[in-house]
Amino acid sequence: MVDFIGTRRVQELVRDLGPAPFIAGLAREIETDYRRWSEFEKSPRHATHSPLGVIELMPACDGRQYAFKYVNGHPKNTGKGLLTVTAFGMLADVDTGYPLALAEMTLNTALRTAATSIVAARALARRDCRVMALIGNGSQSEFQAIAFHDQLGVRELRLYDVDPHATDKLVANLSGLALPGLRVVRCRSTAEACAGADIITTITADKRNAIILTPDMILPGMHLNAAGGDCPGKTELHPDILRRPDARVVVEFEAQSRIEGEIQQMPADFPVTELSKVLTGAAAGRTGERDVTIFDSVGFALEDFSALRYVYRLHRERRGTRASIDLIPDLEDPKDLYGLIANPRVVRERVPEVAEA
Ligand code: NAD
Repeated sequence: MVDFIGTRRVQELVRDLGPAPFIAGLAREIETDYRRWSEFEKSPRHATHSPLGVIELMPACDGRQYAFKYVNGHPKNTGKGLLTVTAFGMLADVDTGYPLALAEMTLNTALRTAATSIVAARALARRDCRVMALIGNGSQSEFQAIAFHDQLGVRELRLYDVDPHATDKLVANLSGLALPGLRVVRCRSTAEACAGADIITTITADKRNAIILTPDMILPGMHLNAAGGDCPGKTELHPDILRRPDARVVVEFEAQSRIEGEIQQMPADFPVTELSKVLTGAAAGRTGERDVTIFDSVGFALEDFSALRYVYRLHRERRGTRASIDLIPDLEDPKDLYGLIANPRVVRERVPEVAEA
């Protein structure tokens, strides 16, 4: 039997711990795993594109455990009452190849994306950041807001979305959370939201090279958490922002980000630094108060590996709903797989002829 960690179980675990502590714990796991980068077998994710979206498979392995995530990205789905991003994943034991858990990853993706944004921002943003513009107020946005309030000390959120209902929803959810000391400001444009911001998070969904941020919106010292552009032909930043002489661009896994990140707009030798190098001190992130740091995030399989291991551990340790599924056969004789489907009477009647050699 394989543990099943469905949506209801993840809801239960997150409510039990609280979303901010859950994300904080997950951020610690992700950071620890990024620091042991060389221990992981890594590959760019396998993406299957269609006119309306993408379906991706994301494997990662550290020699002890193996994880994969199935995830889609369909920006027009919300018009049909469906999520833009849904996912599920599996954690397995490398020594036997047996799955340990099958888990929902839709909530977990939003949680791990916020956690990863935090890991990068803690390493790259100025220490005195208090104001964040949040552009794109859809499914991922509350998770980003909670994480930056809790972990970065953000005390003013400046919101903008082309869909005012998305912002209504975000404002209502943030009011319900009553995050201490947080001021929430609705803005009429991206430019208005970015004015006075220390950090800009872009988490919009649009299957094209959308120019969400233009060079005039960016001031020295800002940190950009560019998380929405994550596919070929799907970006959020004007390339001149990346070209700024004071810009320092950090990516998760260079081989994947060259295909999917904001840097797909740049030549193949455009300089970038991998997050793991900044976290281990092997390379500099921010070098001064006036650098513009850019976390060009696309989402990497290591983050899902960390998230699956984290949620599996919580599921095992904490009380509450337990479920398992009979995904893998349980045999008395591991060589008698056929025994699972054999009708004992028929097998007895049709004894096969065995020729002597
Ligand atoms: P969503 O559809 O729920 O929300 C996206 C929001 O962006 C919508 O409310 C939409 O109105 C808004 N938007 C679109 N164009 C805009 C524009 N020009 N200006 C302002 N707002 C605009 O989607 P979601 O689940 O919140 O995901 C958002 C994006 O983040 C997707 O592109 C997704 O692929 C990406 N994503 C990235 C990661 C990562 O690890 N980097 C993880 C999860 C999702």
